[in-house]
Amino acid sequence: MVSQNHRITYLPSMISLTTPIQQLTRVGATTASRLRRFDIRTAADLLWNIPRKHEDLSTMYTIDQLAVGMHVTVQATVQSIKKRPLRNRKMTLTEVVVADDTGQLQLVWFNQPYISTTLREHDLLFLSGEVKQGRNGELQLTNPNYEKTTTTSDTMHTGRIVPHYHLTAGLTQKQLRFLIKQVLPLTSSIEDYVPKNIRQRYNLIDLATALEHIHYPENMTDLERARHRLKFDELFLIMLAVESAKTQLTTVQAPKITFDTAATKTFVDALPFTLTASQKKAAWTIISDLSKGNPMNRLLQGDVGSGKTVVAALAILNTCITRLQSVLLAPTDILAKQHYDSFVELFATTECTIAMLTRTTTELAYKNNREQIPKKDLEQAIANGSVQLIIGTHAVLQHNLIYNNLALVVVDEQHRFGVNQRRQLKDMTPDLIPHFLSMTATPIPRSLALTMYGDLSISVLKEKPTNRKPIITKLIHKSNRARAYQAIRTEIAKGNQAFVICPLVEESDKLGVKSVTTELNNLSTNIFPDLRIGMVHGKLKKADKEQVMADFRNKQLDMLVATAVVEVGVDIPDATIMIIEAAERFGLAQLHQFRGRVGRSDKQSYCYLFTSENTRPTNDRLQALVATNNGFELAETDLKLRGPGDVYGYRQSGLPELAIASLSDVQSIESAKEAAETLLQADPQLTNNPLLASQLASRVGQMHFE
Ligand code: ADP
Ligand code: MG
Repeated sequence: MVSQNHRITYLPSMISLTTPIQQLTRVGATTASRLRRFDIRTAADLLWNIPRKHEDLSTMYTIDQLAVGMHVTVQATVQSIKKRPLRNRKMTLTEVVVADDTGQLQLVWFNQPYISTTLREHDLLFLSGEVKQGRNGELQLTNPNYEKTTTTSDTMHTGRIVPHYHLTAGLTQKQLRFLIKQVLPLTSSIEDYVPKNIRQRYNLIDLATALEHIHYPENMTDLERARHRLKFDELFLIMLAVESAKTQLTTVQAPKITFDTAATKTFVDALPFTLTASQKKAAWTIISDLSKGNPMNRLLQGDVGSGKTVVAALAILNTCITRLQSVLLAPTDILAKQHYDSFVELFATTECTIAMLTRTTTELAYKNNREQIPKKDLEQAIANGSVQLIIGTHAVLQHNLIYNNLALVVVDEQHRFGVNQRRQLKDMTPDLIPHFLSMTATPIPRSLALTMYGDLSISVLKEKPTNRKPIITKLIHKSNRARAYQAIRTEIAKGNQAFVICPLVEESDKLGVKSVTTELNNLSTNIFPDLRIGMVHGKLKKADKEQVMADFRNKQLDMLVATAVVEVGVDIPDATIMIIEAAERFGLAQLHQFRGRVGRSDKQSYCYLFTSENTRPTNDRLQALVATNNGFELAETDLKLRGPGDVYGYRQSGLPELAIASLSDVQSIESAKEAAETLLQADPQLTNNPLLASQLASRVGQMHFE
């Protein structure tokens, strides 16, 4: 169905959905290769290139209604055209005066000399752009979009709701709009793969109309309906894939891990603290999952400092006792090292051999004895099963490792791992599917988790260990900097330690944002010449990084100036005060992670935030951090402010944009899930819905999820 007002007469009849883009008007070899970067190869691909956003320029203004700052469309007639060189003749300026019944308006184009030849006096134009103030106070449109036509039903850039697409170098919005408008009539030949009863039930318009209106809607209602339909499609396809995968998973076997109650009790009794109720419950649930023959896929959520590591340790302990292998993946070298250190200690009295494997370190530990060994030997020890626990970073995935009865994979700070990497690990263990435990301090709403991971189970550590005091957080005005430094002195005098977090390694911009290197100089020369101050950032050599962290942990340093590398997991019990410079540069969830580096014992801790800009939105956002110590609340706020794509790093997940946008839309997710379940019950192999089956096959290959 094509609305009548798309008067496109130049679409030759031999053009169809499968026509290669090179055969379309105005697509040469270069443009074709640029389009291929977006996987656009055919006319149909152009139609499926969903706009990133729309701009409503449909309201028409008369010239007397304009004011500086408005984004407008006007219809006016050209009165005069002038072109002149600017500066040393390297630039040209084209000045055009247009008029309607209510007045005159100046148009200015920089460096587009051809405009003086394409426009003629008396041309009637649609013009869209932002109204600015010219030199003599007159109103002006700078580099406006213009179209020479008499009715807005022919326009693509002005006088309507205008689509904006993702661009790659060399492609322009104008080009894409033209190309897509050119093939828009083809929407009428698109067959709808969503069964009619589902469309009716969930109030969805047909696919042809949706694709037409997602590019060139007549009004906002049409656009909303088109979005609703296409969003549903994305989620529906994901849900179909997830639901069918789930059915398949029930037939897959996982290794059975024996629950050794006696050994577990001995281990727990030897800990220097008692487990919280949540820790006990989570550990018990996990261990009983592991003893079943089907693969566990569980997310352990717990705010920073809630004690997730020891829960994982209990699962790993039982896996070791069963003489099966576990892998513990950490997002950074520092964190991998820290986990290695604590597991070597925790497991000192067990029969578990632990390997540390990163790009630069290959080490083995057994009963608290550590030994550096060549990579080859370590790989062999892993392959022949003499190692039970392998701790490392991405390197664990990149190595061509052969595991020996890999039974449990623990991924720490799960949201920092790409979905692809998780998949990769699964591909490396083809026979039995290992159990999967992800740990994260960034809470993921249940609906969202279900979408992304299908059969995911969730455990939550609700309370923090009882001895913790809430961290006192303050937004500090720059005039109070000296007092913040005084507070650091007071803490260090008590034998405590301090963190100073800066966003950059080098002073790289003029914004006055602090870098670790200059800040280290400043602090050690001007402010705290008597203190021992260290520095850690991502560009340090690994050995140096480790040395600094070890010095800090062993209290050879009073203060650590650091970049975001200390964001996750780093555990320094005596650190009680933290200063964060240019705090506005970080997301709330990330700031909360930083803050979690202090307050990890029963001592009162402090977090002081400095900003390099003092604007209202910045202050409001940071106030959220002052107001609550609750990571879940902050994550919700962050989700609202930044959207799920950025917060959870799903931009790179291969999920379609619209699906990402709807991840926080619980209602849509549930409708899609319900529709998928109902349909699969009636037609498990989609034999009665061949169109849908082929759509699923072609689209789902591009998505990655568990
Ligand atoms: P996170 O959940 O942020 O990963 P960790 O597992 O690193 O937290 O634990 C933070 C600190 O709390 C560690 O030093 C750990 O030994 C300690 N800890 C864990 N559980 C408890 C508990 N039940 N009581 C007291 N301290 C605990
Ligand atoms: Mg942790």
